[in-house]
Amino acid sequence: MAIGSEVTGTPELDADALRKFEAALRGEVLRAGHPGYDPARALYNAMIDRHPALIVRCRESSDVLRALEFARSHHLLVAVRGGGHNVAGKALCDDGMVIDLSGMKRIQVDPAARTARAEAGLTWGEFDRETQEHGLATTGGFISTTGIAGLTLGGGLGWLMRKHGLACDNLRSVEIVTADGQVRTADATENPDLFWAVRGGGGNFGIVTSFEYRLHPVGQMLAGVVFFPLEQAEAALRFYRDLMTTAPDEVMAYAVFLTSPEGARMLAIPVCYVGPLESAEQILRPLRSHASVAADLVRPMTYREIQSMFDAGFPSGRLNYWKSSFLRELSDEGIATLVAHFTAVPSGFSAVAIEPFGGVVARVGREETAFAHRHARYSLVIVSMWTDPAESAANIRWTREFWNAMQPFFSEAVYVNYLDTDDADRVQAAYDPRTYRRLQLVKERYDPGNFFRVNQNIGPAL
Ligand SMILES: Cc1cc2nc3c(=O)[nH]c(=O)nc-3n(C[C@H](O)[C@H](O)[C@H](O)COP(=O)(O)OP(=O)(O)OC[C@H]3O[C@@H](n4cnc5c(N)ncnc54)[C@H](O)[C@@H]3O)c2cc1C
Repeated sequence: MAIGSEVTGTPELDADALRKFEAALRGEVLRAGHPGYDPARALYNAMIDRHPALIVRCRESSDVLRALEFARSHHLLVAVRGGGHNVAGKALCDDGMVIDLSGMKRIQVDPAARTARAEAGLTWGEFDRETQEHGLATTGGFISTTGIAGLTLGGGLGWLMRKHGLACDNLRSVEIVTADGQVRTADATENPDLFWAVRGGGGNFGIVTSFEYRLHPVGQMLAGVVFFPLEQAEAALRFYRDLMTTAPDEVMAYAVFLTSPEGARMLAIPVCYVGPLESAEQILRPLRSHASVAADLVRPMTYREIQSMFDAGFPSGRLNYWKSSFLRELSDEGIATLVAHFTAVPSGFSAVAIEPFGGVVARVGREETAFAHRHARYSLVIVSMWTDPAESAANIRWTREFWNAMQPFFSEAVYVNYLDTDDADRVQAAYDPRTYRRLQLVKERYDPGNFFRVNQNIGPAL
């Protein structure tokens, strides 16, 4: 019998029960000592070093169900892993069980209906490969290695969002295993409260085994990066702000402070025009012909090229520390503060990214999904990355000082998927009070015991 009645502390698991559990699985169970254990507990962010008692690598939805039953009957804390990109390391726990979906990668595209049913272990790159075969795509993230699961459940910002909405706005339905061990469909008509909650409320309500997305025709686009020297970054950012204030939905342009491989600090404007090439040429011309441009790498690209052009800059396994908030606006003073602080960046791997909202994101009704901050102007994320643990303190200090200096320009709000390990008290800030209350009520209904709590946790209503 199971002895581990506590959810923390290494549980003593009955060997016989464990054997039976393993034998019933299509996938496998990894424990400390197994050669696959350490690779399986490695996450995108190398700051996270946790040791689960069991890692269950699921192959089928039935594995997920069995794992959940086993965890419940043995009182194990459960973490759920999709793509493993969450910077706060919410895909791992110490001592308990990780239900690892990263091996579940089936995807079925229906080109006529323009939909895709995708299992939760896919990354965006894997998803795009299949949908682009049919000239279709939906909103995924800025890079291709992030998991579709965590990104969609938190909302999902990306290249196509101003034209086609957030990743969660393109969801048609999910298959989800709830804490009571039931497999449910959640869509507009079946369990609509649950469907509302999983579109922004994160992994709080159950384990999503598959997502059904709406797809859009997406062909070659004019896209790439326009670089400005840091000395010209203030003027360039003011130009960027004016561009995005009047830009049509088709224009998606980030603003990213980064360091070139040669060591030059720069402002990059990664841009794409989600529409015909001819219109793109004209609309992007002012940006590309700005007097301060250091390099213009814009050209016709496929969506897969666009979505993977920054992959090399964000490899798995570096030390990461992030701080993020929404900007109220991009004021001249805010711009000057950004440039001044980036000048002192201690690591050449770090980046500071501004993501513009607007377009379709702002036109989806506030009550329609649990993604509350649709009317934000920009999200700002300070992504500190370095490789030597001896440099951790300096990089974390710089990130915090930068974020503190930007406070006058921030709203209270933040994007839930950018919260780091020390942001547990900011989960409410990812929602407005009304949305948060509604999420608590859905949590109360589907997970009253807060079984799913290794996430940006929303507790049940009291
Ligand atoms: C380099 C980088 C770039 C990024 N770019 C973007 C971007 O452009 N746009 C954007 O919106 N976000 C972006 N993110 C943030 C990203 O959305 C989050 O990190 C997200 O959590 C990643 O999802 P995942 O499946 O890879 O994460 P995981 O770490 O596997 O999971 C994260 C959390 O999601 C939950 N979860 C995962 N799978 C499931 C499931 N199947 N069912 C229930 N809960 C589940 C779990 O609770 C877990 O706590 C980026 C992150 C990184 C590291």
